[in-house]
Amino acid sequence: MIYSTDYHLHSTFSDGKAAPEDYITPAVEAGLKEIGFSEHLTLFLKDPDWSMSAEETGPYLEYIRRLSSKTKNIRVRTGLEIDYLPGMEDEISSFLEGAELDYAIGSVHYLGDFPVDMGPESYDGKNIDILWENYFENVIASAASGLFDIIAHCDLIRIYGFIPSGDPEPYYRRLAKCLSLHDVAFEINTNGRNRPVGDFYPDRRFLRIFREENVPVCVNSDGHMPSRVGQYFEEAYNLLREAGYTEMAVFNKRERYMIPFI
Ligand SMILES: [Zn+2]
Ligand SMILES: [Zn+2]
Repeated sequence: MIYSTDYHLHSTFSDGKAAPEDYITPAVEAGLKEIGFSEHLTLFLKDPDWSMSAEETGPYLEYIRRLSSKTKNIRVRTGLEIDYLPGMEDEISSFLEGAELDYAIGSVHYLGDFPVDMGPESYDGKNIDILWENYFENVIASAASGLFDIIAHCDLIRIYGFIPSGDPEPYYRRLAKCLSLHDVAFEINTNGRNRPVGDFYPDRRFLRIFREENVPVCVNSDGHMPSRVGQYFEEAYNLLREAGYTEMAVFNKRERYMIPFI
């Protein structure tokens, strides 16, 4: 019996479609033991409609803590998905100092002002090789920053199916080595299945590299609606088994514990 967790969920506190409490019953029915909310927080954009501001995080975290204390049939964790950009380390660090989280997820949605997942048309006329190089550079920097417990959808640059001209494997090796060195987990993000790329993040062919480099793993849905909680998890667990994983990461107050994966 797998101790299933889904730490990457979005509610109406950021760009999700339902209130946090609406996720509880579907999560229990999906057999999950823990869920966690990880609303978007971006510190470098002015009030985007998909993200909270730093000021909004206080009431959000309080709300999730209250939900957690009154929910008995599943554990509810507090998290954030924080946008990383090189140069933002100090701002993110001072924010995190005052925040009581079970885990902080770091993610790259922007390369400078280039939005990675706002539509394939933003890729028109762009050099895909350079975008891949930049994307992995930023994700690697986010892992090396020491700010985050989990790195989200680490090859989101695949979202529209644009792939580099050369072999992408060295990008994954570099990233996995960096995650391992800095003791940061990555996720299988099953939501990629619902996006144009049509498969999980990261590319399943390279999961074995993360295992070889001993990178801790979580399986997350990145669900923005209750019906997506725990979606495709059995398939993700099978992929992890095939890659040789024997444990998964769980988080409490920013401490990581490993739970055997049977
Ligand atoms: Zn994201
Ligand atoms: Zn997300």
